[in-house]
Amino acid sequence: MITEKTSCLLCGADDAEIMASGADYDCETTAQVFHFGRCRSCGHIYLNPRPTAECAPEIYPSDYYTLDASHQPDGWSIMGRMKDVVVRSRLRAFMRGVPHGGTVVDLGCGDGALLLAMRRERPDARLVGVDFAVSAGQRQKMEKAGVVVIESALETAQLPENVSLVIMNQVIEHLWDVDACMEKVRSCLRTGGMFSVCTPNTDGYDRPWFHSGAWGGYYFPRHLNLFSREGLSRYMERFGLRVTRRNSLLAPLIWMSTARALQLRRGWPRWARLRDGNVFFLVLFCLFDALALMLGQVTSNQQVVAVKE
Ligand SMILES: [Zn+2]
Repeated sequence: MITEKTSCLLCGADDAEIMASGADYDCETTAQVFHFGRCRSCGHIYLNPRPTAECAPEIYPSDYYTLDASHQPDGWSIMGRMKDVVVRSRLRAFMRGVPHGGTVVDLGCGDGALLLAMRRERPDARLVGVDFAVSAGQRQKMEKAGVVVIESALETAQLPENVSLVIMNQVIEHLWDVDACMEKVRSCLRTGGMFSVCTPNTDGYDRPWFHSGAWGGYYFPRHLNLFSREGLSRYMERFGLRVTRRNSLLAPLIWMSTARALQLRRGWPRWARLRDGNVFFLVLFCLFDALALMLGQVTSNQQVVAVKE
C-alpha cells in the first residue's frame, strides 16, 4: 500500500511521537503496520504515515459494511430495532432546529438510515444524503422516500445552499482533506444553521487500557485523525462555528473493534472472533458505557454540535 507523510491537522507542526501501532484488525485488507503519532505541539493524534487517498478502494473493500446491503439489519431483527432506537433518539435533539421546509444534509450518509427515519418525522424537510459510494439498492430506497442522493467525495461534493442542519456521523475521522470538507460545511450552512459531528473521542475512559494499539477507535488504517473533545471544539471554531453542545455517546462498536483487535493480536482464528452483529456483546458494551456515564466518565464516542455565527 502506498503511504504518505502528513503533518498535524490542528496546528500544522511536523513533530509527533509514536503512541500507538497496529494493523487492519477489522477488515484485514493489509498486513502492513501503521502508527498514530501525538503532536508534540498541540497533542492532536493522527495516522502518520497514512495510506494515500488513491488507496481508498483497497482499504474500503467492496463488502465494507456501509456499502453492502446484505450486512444491513432489517427492521424485524433485534439489531435493526436497536439501531432504530438509537437513530430516533439522536433525531429528536436535532429536528427542533430545522424550520418548516428546511434543508438537512447527511455527509457520509452510508445506508441512509438517519435520513429515512427523519423523513418519517418530517415530511416537509428537504433531505440530502452524500456519500462516496451508494449501492443501487440504498439509492432506490432513499430516492423513493424523497431523499436527494449525491454520490461524490465529501470534500468536492456540490452541496445545496442555505442548509439548516449538516450531520457528519463517524465520518470526519476518515477524511483525507478535513479542511476542505469543513469549508464546504461552513459555506453551505445558513447563519444560525447547525452542524453535528459524531466521532471517536480520545478522552474516552477505556482508551488508556488499550492505548498502545488495540483501542477500537484507532481502526487502522481507515481513521486518519482522532480528536479530543477540546481539539474538535477548537477546530470547529476555526471555521466560524460556535460550539453549543458536547455529549458522550455509547460506543459499543468501538468496544467490538477493541475486542477483535485483542483477539487478533492473540492469534485467535477468524471464526472465533467477535462480529458486529453479536447482540449479546453489543448490549454488554452498551451497559459498560452506560455505567461509566453514570459514574461521570467520558466515553470513546462523542458528539459536538455547533452553530454557524
Ligand atoms: Zn499539532
